[in-house]
Amino acid sequence: MEVNFLDLHKQYLSIKNEIDEAVKQVIDTNAFIRGPFVDSFEKDFAKSLNVKHVLGVGNGTDALFIALKTLGIGPGDEVITAANSFIASAEAITMAGGKVVFADCHPQSYCIDPESIRSKITAKTKAIVPVHLYGHPADMEAIMEIANQYSLYVVEDAAQGVFAEFKGTKVGGFGHFTCFSFYPGKNLGAYGDAGAIVSNNDELFAKAKMFANHGRIDKYDHEFEGINSRMDGIQGAVLKVKLPHLRQWTEGRRKVAALYNELLSTLQDIILPTEQEGAYHVYHLYPIRLKENLRDELMKFLHSKGIETGVHYPIALPSLKAYHYLGHKPGDFPNAEKFSKQLVSLPIFPELTEAEVKYVAEKVREFFALR
Ligand SMILES: *Cc1c(COP(=O)(O)O)cnc(C)c1O
Repeated sequence: MEVNFLDLHKQYLSIKNEIDEAVKQVIDTNAFIRGPFVDSFEKDFAKSLNVKHVLGVGNGTDALFIALKTLGIGPGDEVITAANSFIASAEAITMAGGKVVFADCHPQSYCIDPESIRSKITAKTKAIVPVHLYGHPADMEAIMEIANQYSLYVVEDAAQGVFAEFKGTKVGGFGHFTCFSFYPGKNLGAYGDAGAIVSNNDELFAKAKMFANHGRIDKYDHEFEGINSRMDGIQGAVLKVKLPHLRQWTEGRRKVAALYNELLSTLQDIILPTEQEGAYHVYHLYPIRLKENLRDELMKFLHSKGIETGVHYPIALPSLKAYHYLGHKPGDFPNAEKFSKQLVSLPIFPELTEAEVKYVAEKVREFFALR
């Protein structure tokens, strides 16, 4: 049996007529940049998250950059983010002119650890960028408490966490801004690059909206210099079609995770993903943890059985060449460093069948039984 890590085409086939019609409408009406389809998606998305404002932008990295610039992050400002994430979480801080300060992750949720955040706060700290990693919400209660105590801004990186919840509130409802990515492989994927910024603050949102569109108030009237980061009409139309399915797709991911949990729970050699108290996990990924000397062997074994796996992420951000200038030493982020060598992600997506999940679990068990 062949099990892909992700199969986007299956999802397309399940909504092909709606998608094809929506894309055709964009082309027929020349609604290529922003336009009515993006407006309409923004409204629907705001409603689904229970937030006031949504702005469609070019991609998730831009969303983070626009949020940080709008909050005035610049030279001399420190911004704390997760040592284990995709580089964009940190990159956006540097792009805005701030200094990246990494915090280590929690040993069970793998999300940024509030205690580590606390230990990194200085007089220069201006903001926190918590990441809802792998679809598990960061501990937003503890993080907002720290932010309030030190008067810090919070920009949620929800690129992997659309519809995740913490204690009954969807992510997007906590920070000054929340940033989403609709990269095709994300839980809500466009058919190209796209992203969104969410806020409940009228003033901040209005400023972010201008910044993302050349600082303009009118076609050729610009209040300040901004950038060009606007959602495409085609992406808006595709996302509008997909959004009503997202609840069901998320449940599909959770079913896959529950079945893996059931089939793998008796294996002594691996640690399964957890759903911490108060968390609603949307399983963008399903990473299992095992002894680091076995990871490559397991991946090779599964590959030989037709199963694709991935590593998220093989190098902790502070250990990347891109961040050597920060001067971190091995051991500065013990959890993030250890997990980067121990985690391997099994296939997970809503269309994965029960037979496929069972096959993957059976092969994982076979690998350990053979040892
Ligand atoms: C995907 C991702 C981003 C960036 O999103 P793009 O749309 O690819 O720019 C940012 N942060 C995290 C955690 C991501 O997974």
